[in-house]
Amino acid sequence: MTVPYDIANPTEEHAMLREMVRNFTEEEVEPQAHEYDRDEKFNTALFRRLGDLGLLGITVDEEYGGVGMDATAVAIVNEELGYSDPGFCLAYLAHAQLMVNNIAFNGSVEQKARILPKVCSGEWIGCMGMSEPGYGTDVLGMSTSATPNDDGSWTLNGRKMWITNGAIDGDGTPADVCMIYAKTGENDVGRPEITTFIVEKGMTGYSVGQKILDKLGMRASNTAELVFDDVNIPPSNVVGSPGESMVHMMRNLEIERIALAAMAVGISRRCLSIMNAYASEREAFGKKIREFGQIQRHIGESWAEYRAMRAYVYDTARNTNLSRAGNRLDSDGVKLYATTAAKNIADRAIQVLGGYGYVGEYVVERLWRDSKLLEIGGGTLESHQKNIARDLGRDGTPIDL
Ligand SMILES: Cc1cc2nc3c(=O)[nH]c(=O)nc-3n(C[C@H](O)[C@H](O)[C@H](O)COP(=O)(O)OP(=O)(O)OC[C@H]3O[C@@H](n4cnc5c(N)ncnc54)[C@H](O)[C@@H]3O)c2cc1C
Repeated sequence: MTVPYDIANPTEEHAMLREMVRNFTEEEVEPQAHEYDRDEKFNTALFRRLGDLGLLGITVDEEYGGVGMDATAVAIVNEELGYSDPGFCLAYLAHAQLMVNNIAFNGSVEQKARILPKVCSGEWIGCMGMSEPGYGTDVLGMSTSATPNDDGSWTLNGRKMWITNGAIDGDGTPADVCMIYAKTGENDVGRPEITTFIVEKGMTGYSVGQKILDKLGMRASNTAELVFDDVNIPPSNVVGSPGESMVHMMRNLEIERIALAAMAVGISRRCLSIMNAYASEREAFGKKIREFGQIQRHIGESWAEYRAMRAYVYDTARNTNLSRAGNRLDSDGVKLYATTAAKNIADRAIQVLGGYGYVGEYVVERLWRDSKLLEIGGGTLESHQKNIARDLGRDGTPIDL
């Protein structure tokens, strides 16, 4: 008997990972999701449980405390957590993909040995700062900068905005460790050179400017503005060679976009499951509402979109090599498609549930609010459209493959 191939579970190891995360999500994530969203709180204790399960170092080599898995594994974890609690999942993604994966692939052996065991176990909580109050999509316009000192250290100045895990609690406690991109010069043609600095809690001049409150969604993750005021960065906390971080940034954005798109798959699967069950239970005019053509359209279109995004996400993950950039066309493409589709599926789920869909108990309103962030964070829809058109303009051969 041939076993059917499932692109979302390509190996037994991936299937076991999915089962483990699914069980954990059902038993420990789902019961707290509503409360932490309502109260705008980050569940630090639950976050550290992800370390016990090996999920915080999902792409990190075993010698540094990780489990050494691939982009497909990243998609699986984000899909499964996103099914239940996208806010909590965003905190996971900011730590495990934006910070931990970044250092695992771009850091020195010394940095990896010093930092990775702590962030893989959950002892330290990390974040990544790229966006600024005045610069988001226009990332190279950033005004955060660092200047070298005679002793090899650097002085970092500037502000970063919208940083997930930037504060780890309501008292403004900063993350234990952040990867911060800063401008350190210009090349021969006037293009900014970017360097990554590792900033650690306790460094003088590093603080939380403000915790950002009243977000539409993703309320179970903390978002903060970070301030760097003459922070002295020792040479041991400079990632790679000064000026070479554009490539770090691009490579890490690819896995970030796949992870966000995988979260969209989780949101879509949950919303579809809820609307499908409800359509069989609810009756109107003496019939189950699934017998009405307009309800069938909501379910049918959602199924087709969910299946399409699932295939595209896992195909893109399968073709992504974490150690090099080169998959921007599809990491942009999959995020562009999956995020809006997830928001539309969540919207249809609310519609199918009528008034019940509009209240927290039935979950889909939270997923609808959370899904909107996926169209903004990690690159806006417009930036994906721009990148895709630019890449296909340079080389249209992928269209005819
Ligand atoms: C909850 C949350 C968590 C986040 N977490 C992080 C994090 O952990 N780390 C981090 O670094 N950042 C994070 N971000 C920031 C996020 O990546 C940015 O918000 C995003 O990149 C957009 O930047 P902006 O908000 O400055 O919008 P802008 O770039 O100012 O964009 C405003 C509008 O103009 C459009 N626009 C801009 N340029 C163009 C163009 N060339 N062509 C067409 N349209 C254009 C945009 O698409 C958008 O519609 C987070 C944001 C949120 C809301």
